[in-house]
Amino acid sequence: MGRRTGTGETATDALVTIVGGGVHGVHLAVRLLKRGLVDRSELRIVDPPGLLESFRRKCRQCGMVEFRSPFVHHVGTDPFSLRNFARTHGREDELRSTTVGAERPTASLFFDHAGRLCDRYDLESIRLDARVTDLVDRHNCVEIETTDGPVSSRWCLLAVGYGRSVAYPEWATELVSTDSVSHVWEGFDPDAVDETASVGIVGGGITAAQLATTLAQPGRDVVLFARSPFRVETLEASTDWMHFSGVTERLHAHPPASRARAELVAEARYDGTIPPYAFRRLKRALERERVELERSEIAVATEAGGTVVVTCRDGSAFCLDELICATGFGSPYDGALFRQLRRKSTLQAGYRGAPSLDDDTLRWVRDDGTPSRIAVSGVAAQQVLGPFARNVIGARRAGELIVGFLESELDGEKRRVDRYTRT
Ligand SMILES: Cc1cc2nc3c(=O)[nH]c(=O)nc-3n(C[C@H](O)[C@H](O)[C@H](O)COP(=O)(O)OP(=O)(O)OC[C@H]3O[C@@H](n4cnc5c(N)ncnc54)[C@H](O)[C@@H]3O)c2cc1C
Repeated sequence: MGRRTGTGETATDALVTIVGGGVHGVHLAVRLLKRGLVDRSELRIVDPPGLLESFRRKCRQCGMVEFRSPFVHHVGTDPFSLRNFARTHGREDELRSTTVGAERPTASLFFDHAGRLCDRYDLESIRLDARVTDLVDRHNCVEIETTDGPVSSRWCLLAVGYGRSVAYPEWATELVSTDSVSHVWEGFDPDAVDETASVGIVGGGITAAQLATTLAQPGRDVVLFARSPFRVETLEASTDWMHFSGVTERLHAHPPASRARAELVAEARYDGTIPPYAFRRLKRALERERVELERSEIAVATEAGGTVVVTCRDGSAFCLDELICATGFGSPYDGALFRQLRRKSTLQAGYRGAPSLDDDTLRWVRDDGTPSRIAVSGVAAQQVLGPFARNVIGARRAGELIVGFLESELDGEKRRVDRYTRT
């Protein structure tokens, strides 16, 4: 990996470095390589657990077997490639029907198709097995600090998802270091739950519903602590937001990284909802008394000798072997890398640490108002792209914008090099 410009500018290890090899990072890599903007020797993906590994693990942790989104949402560029993959491999029965829009793929179909794309572009060979701990945006490159040492790149694309930021209820914060209280996204292993355990699950959205029905096995007591009535929605927001035009102008009317934008996104998202197919499963489990529903909020929880005692606001109490919080993610700007960048970099941040991004290119804007060499895809781009920024379809839109600006920038850089080598 290496590229000398001949312009007297800093030589870098890679032309483009993608930080994060999840849905967003893999999609960016596929798009860049397919478009021929870079070749593999100029591209690097930095991710410690492996490509798509973090997402795959989350699906397993909550027992998600079917996607909520339609089959046209996947990590490739041709909308129909997942359906064609299903047809070619005789797996059309893994496209599940839905009341709204196209069929949804099973998780195994989605990941097998994504794996096939990773293999086709040999993305594993350009993955650096490390965590990025800091970035320094220079005039003509980005210096990247990793757990495997420093590297540099002309351009850096951040696709780190929530970066391990999860949300716990207040009463749980002192208990998370015990073996009995955990968060579904933090090292929770569904296979390690004892077959006869009494398990509490906290939450009322899709993750809690899926986890409850997955863990509800004969011999186990499963209590679902859901303080509010269940809300059923097919998708995470109105489909208007999926088109990334028209309605996103409402966001762009406000200053970047502003509170007004943050509130618009929060209002637009149907957070805490359950899609119909998952709700039907939960309803069946409740009717068959495989899951007990506690319609109250936990007020206090204590742990002693491997047992958690929970007292709810309605006065009811439970003794549990394990309590799992399915209470969602924290702020996407509170992951370690974003916090580090906030502390000392010259990149602009706004309300609650949101990165200030250019609406047309997703480039992070510097304090002096110029666009940096760092662009952002994923949930951290939600103030530009809206409530579907974090989703698979959001990766597509971010990919279009980022690859669009990179194409003209790389073209300009190439012309400068050609001019230099001619003189
Ligand atoms: C259970 C579940 C089900 C979902 N179902 C759907 C669905 O059906 N349809 C849909 O459209 N969306 C769905 N989503 C939302 C979204 O598509 C996923 O969250 C998706 O994983 C987001 O991709 P990402 O690449 O932004 O983040 P991630 O998948 O979290 O990937 C980020 C990657 O960045 C890496 N990383 C983080 N920090 C660093 C660092 N400092 N250095 C190097 N690497 C780093 C991580 O290791 C990780 O691999 C679902 C989400 C969850 C949790």
